Amino acid sequence: MFSERAVLTKAEHILLLAGTFEARQLAKELADCFASARVTASFAGVVKDLPELDVPTRIGGFGGAAGLRDFLRAEQITLVIDATHPFAAQMSRNAAEACEAMHLPLIRLERPVWTALPDDIWQHFRSMQDASRALPEDARTFLAVGRKEIQQFTWRPDIYGLARMIEAPPQPLPEAWDLVLQRPPQSSSEEKELLRKHGITHVVTKNSGGMRAYAKIEAARALRLPVFVIDRPQLPMAETAADIQSLLEKARLTMQRSGS
Ligand code: NAP
Repeated sequence: MFSERAVLTKAEHILLLAGTFEARQLAKELADCFASARVTASFAGVVKDLPELDVPTRIGGFGGAAGLRDFLRAEQITLVIDATHPFAAQMSRNAAEACEAMHLPLIRLERPVWTALPDDIWQHFRSMQDASRALPEDARTFLAVGRKEIQQFTWRPDIYGLARMIEAPPQPLPEAWDLVLQRPPQSSSEEKELLRKHGITHVVTKNSGGMRAYAKIEAARALRLPVFVIDRPQLPMAETAADIQSLLEKARLTMQRSGS
């Protein structure tokens, strides 16, 4: 557990790009570990049901990399922590571009990817579109893909889709499909039950990593179902940390360097 309180020699202001469970934990840890720094968290505001964080929060896009640069300048940000979802690639690209242009330190929290175990039946895809083309005729699919991406599958009238997401998609789904509005459950038996109930033959998922959405992978393994895995988008080079504790340590070192 990171406990050291950093001794900061200048007014530090950390921008935490949020949107994940880890960002929620980080907000608290940053406030605890760097008591003399200001921390501001930022959400895209895609979902209405946003968690309360322990730090001041802003909501909504910045207006691309240029808008983000303006924000960083106006708020005198000294460190950016990118704890967005691994598929929120545009935000991560904007953060990398803006920080590079302004010579600001950036640390990205990058959860390790999921990797297939011997009993997993996985096929990898570079995009949702590729995965949707590869689904066999009449497949009964569990689409754990997100409200913006679901439209990449609705052009396949021959398949059945059980779509799960946090908030309803902007367009209606095909009549025969089912929509479950829910965050992913943590129990693989609950996931197995859902897959069985809907006669699912294929699971489609982003390679999000972490444990909070992993139960469906375990359920598919237990039921010997093929999983179509959308590989992560490429992100620009940045300093990364695989977990919260190593990120805090890197943040401490970065602030010590910039304060000295
Ligand atoms: P994105 O394509 O990277 O972001 C689109 C735009 O949303 C960004 O360019 C930025 O707008 C704004 N944005 C994103 N994150 C922001 C943040 N933390 N603070 C302020 N503005 C932010 O990501 P996305 O469209 O939200 O999602 C892409 C994928 O990631 C989807 O698969 C989604 O399910 C998954 N995901 C995203 C989040 C999230 O919080 N974004 C959470 C969970 C899962 P400007 O260019 O105007 O600054």
